[in-house]
Amino acid sequence: MGGLAAAALALSGCQSQASAAGAASSSSATPPPDAVRPKTPAEALARLKEGNARFVAGSAIHPNQDAEARHAVVEHQEPWAQVHGCVDSRVSPELLFDQGIGDLFTTRTAGAVLDDTIVGSMEFGIGSPYEVPVLVILGHTGCGAVTATVAAVEANRENPAAPGEVVDIVDEIAPVVRRTKPLDDKAAYIDEVVRANTVSVVDALLKRSKIIRDAVAAGRTKVVPAVYDLDTGQVTWLS
Ligand SMILES: [Zn+2]
Repeated sequence: MGGLAAAALALSGCQSQASAAGAASSSSATPPPDAVRPKTPAEALARLKEGNARFVAGSAIHPNQDAEARHAVVEHQEPWAQVHGCVDSRVSPELLFDQGIGDLFTTRTAGAVLDDTIVGSMEFGIGSPYEVPVLVILGHTGCGAVTATVAAVEANRENPAAPGEVVDIVDEIAPVVRRTKPLDDKAAYIDEVVRANTVSVVDALLKRSKIIRDAVAAGRTKVVPAVYDLDTGQVTWLS
């Protein structure tokens, strides 16, 4: 495998040398706009919004997903955004933001709840050396973890039950359910809890992590709550 990878890298090196020598004025010498890494929270957010707009419109370009992109980040990665979302099979960050290999750090838990290793993984991306300029906390409509927690709290307000260690997820979301006023429309209520939970995760994260709090205070990083719509594909930004 090492030999194959080395051969592929050597081949790719030959090709770029050949194209540089053969056509100095070729546009391939200038990296496309998407090859420039966003450095500020505003630039990173704009890039995510552009990618989501392409995805919603059905005109995704699937950047950085070919063999060349794969080889380019073997020795060094420089992701420019971090997304913490739900494990739901319909909410894949690279797909819905139309990004590729080496672009995003991602963490996912049911309901996007936090735990120690998840917070440590976020600090890995936000701290030195990566200093990722934006962290999105991404909830989504119709979240199963939120739906299950709403049902468990309705059955037992103070001690909601769930099988196995799923109860750890329910315990994280239950306080948000208890303080969110019920609505007659159940689906609308679930989505209301999703929004509240997403904002709550941002607040909890900033309380919990000095590394992330310091990065935000210094203006290096922005932590942004957002909700993905399963049907339209649209990401709604909550701040
Ligand atoms: Zn979910």
